[in-house]
Amino acid sequence: MDFEHNITVLGSTGSIGTQTLEIARRYKGIRLCALSAYSNIELLEAQTREFMPKLVCVADEEKAKEFKIKIADLDVKVVSGESGLLEAAAFEKSQTVVTAVVGISGLLPTITAIKAKKNIALANKETLVTGGHIVMPLAKEYGVKILPVDSEHSAIFQSLQGNPKKIKRIILTASGGPFFGKTADELKNITPGDALKHPNWNMGAKVTIDSSTLVNKGLEIIEAKWLFGVEIKDIEVLIHRQSVLHSAVMYEDNAVIAQLGTPDMRLPIQYALTYPDRLPMENNELDFTKYKDLTFEKPDTKTFYALELAKKAGEAGGILPTVFNSSDEAAVKLFLEGKISYLQISEIIKKAIEDTKNISNPTLSDILETDKNIKESIYLRS
Ligand code: NDP
Ligand code: MG
Repeated sequence: MDFEHNITVLGSTGSIGTQTLEIARRYKGIRLCALSAYSNIELLEAQTREFMPKLVCVADEEKAKEFKIKIADLDVKVVSGESGLLEAAAFEKSQTVVTAVVGISGLLPTITAIKAKKNIALANKETLVTGGHIVMPLAKEYGVKILPVDSEHSAIFQSLQGNPKKIKRIILTASGGPFFGKTADELKNITPGDALKHPNWNMGAKVTIDSSTLVNKGLEIIEAKWLFGVEIKDIEVLIHRQSVLHSAVMYEDNAVIAQLGTPDMRLPIQYALTYPDRLPMENNELDFTKYKDLTFEKPDTKTFYALELAKKAGEAGGILPTVFNSSDEAAVKLFLEGKISYLQISEIIKKAIEDTKNISNPTLSDILETDKNIKESIYLRS
């Protein structure tokens, strides 16, 4: 295979990051030039020794010092902190940056990578939620592609290939998470352990909790708005428990084109790295006969009202999507630390949005300052 692609993986030790490396392991043409992690230096060391990138960033400064000692025998440059992450994002030898860090920490590196003329394989949905109005025009200005890794957005992107740009509607599917069908009363005593059990996908902690509250689908609606230039009202969310139909596009003539497959993130990651080519994939063929039913139903937005909050924030735009995201990031952290209850996650988001006076067209510093203020005030209160 003569496929060659130099990539940087930001967040290489996470769920998306490790699966990206699995693909690179299979296709030697995908070369890892730079890697980054926050603090998991044990796994990062193993990855560094296997793939021999030229540059590695450890975001945590103290861990970076330890890491340098661990790999002193290798010819690898080690950088740290936020400046290190930006250096990795702009690493000259790379053509594409896979943004697989979690939360708003993906925003600045993505902007830096775009300015360094890298294509973006975008897993970090928070980037477009908070800064879509900055990132999308910037990508156009620098002539780089934003290729979706999020499975639903990859499915939509695949469904758009070879079709007219004008579409009628996007159908964004959601598994419904572990608490589908439950009432608010039944969710009162949910523990982090309960919420971390996702029925179909094995993902990082934050996105797993977000899937259970439907915040994840809310973030994805806003992500889709920016990626595909559609209005929020033209994005329909359907609960599809089997996670086989990964999302679809309805065209003007009512034709619905969808992408189907097993729930396996390696396909969307691989497609983002090989687009427009398709390379073979092992062990994940869809066997239709294993599924007795493929079901589709409307979400329960009374119990999982964060989805509606996201729609409103996405429609209003401005700083509200940042407020939605930042309050969720803070609330999920507190929930995982056992400091708030499960139902408080959505309550905190609701209050943060109600307490905010919107700013239209926020600058990057407005976004980062709002993120900091929202998180600080939520941590202070609990
Ligand atoms: P994980 O929590 O599994 O991994 C996050 C990665 O980012 C790790 O490498 C982690 O390092 C690093 N990291 C964490 N915090 C910071 C920080 N503040 N600065 C720099 N690096 C940091 O997350 P996922 O892989 O599940 O998700 C990554 C992104 O992809 C998210 O935005 C998520 O919404 C999106 N996504 C994920 C899917 C999935 O299947 N997992 C599906 C679709 C989208 P360390 O290991 O050292 O902590
Ligand atoms: Mg998704």
